[in-house]
Amino acid sequence: MSCELSVVVPVFNEEGNIPELYRRLVPVLEGCVASFEVVFVDDGSRDRSWELVRDLAGRDGRVRGLKFSRNFGHQMAFAAGLEQARGEAVVIMDADLQDPPEVIPELVGRFREGWDVVYAQRRRREGESAFKLWTAKAFYRLLRRITPVDIPLDTGDFRLMSRRAVDAFRRLGERHRFTRGLVAWLGFRQTGVLYDRAARHAGDTKYPLRKMVRFAIDAITSFSHVPLQLATWLGFAVSAFAFAYILVVLVLKVVGISWPGYTSLMAAILFLGGVQLVMIGLLGEYLGRVYDEVKRRPLYLVQEEVGGGTRGE
Ligand code: UDP
Ligand code: MG
Repeated sequence: MSCELSVVVPVFNEEGNIPELYRRLVPVLEGCVASFEVVFVDDGSRDRSWELVRDLAGRDGRVRGLKFSRNFGHQMAFAAGLEQARGEAVVIMDADLQDPPEVIPELVGRFREGWDVVYAQRRRREGESAFKLWTAKAFYRLLRRITPVDIPLDTGDFRLMSRRAVDAFRRLGERHRFTRGLVAWLGFRQTGVLYDRAARHAGDTKYPLRKMVRFAIDAITSFSHVPLQLATWLGFAVSAFAFAYILVVLVLKVVGISWPGYTSLMAAILFLGGVQLVMIGLLGEYLGRVYDEVKRRPLYLVQEEVGGGTRGE
């Protein structure tokens, strides 16, 4: 079965969005490609999401579903979806309709012009808190400064990838995944289209602050060694300061000026203690990731599959 376009959708407790997504997605796809499949990856949902996916797959042969054995995370769902997708091009998008299906024809259009990766870049974001807007903006700018990989600004995971980009992506086996960075790393011919990010259709975000922070740390540690080098620069700076300080104290002592130094002593000890702990913590972040890589556990486990006939290849 040849398939022109696959759409990969990670799903985590999205029962309120799946029917509406299907309703809006199918006519758009029918209008722009000859054949397509929609691959839902259920990331261990605890609501009725999986039943809904199963129903859809039962009624429509173009829908496939994959259910993880537990919640492995959004980024793992992408990895699984890209592994499963059979299309000549693959679109990845969220289930909550924040990525409007109506943008897909534009992505496909650019793909037909010969681009390998067409990412959708947010012009505006609706229905997000000022805090999220501001932190996201600051995060993308910081990340760009400290990584050699050209990661586009204000771009989520909503994008189209050509078959060769998907095949290259599938060769990346790392555990702590920042998909948008990994895709940028692939190279090939990449371009962006602008779109307005909608508000969530139903339900609440599945990214509480804790997950967002983890995600940001994964992004930074996967794409930059700058935090590790901070210790070196701080070390140099503090040593230079200490050297100058000792000289001054010695000279003053020689000319007969000295004073009790408990306050400055405490300040120096606490400051350096703090800096050292932070640096050890940073080392721990990298070391923990190295440990995870060495264990070579599978990225995810599949509990159930529906639709699509036999498995590709
Ligand atoms: N998601 C997932 N696993 C998770 C968290 C989220 O598969 O552990 C899915 C979720 O169902 C949605 C997409 O990832 O389709 C984006 O999540 P969300 O909309 O909550 O993130 P936000 O848009 O608020 O950043
Ligand atoms: Mg969302």
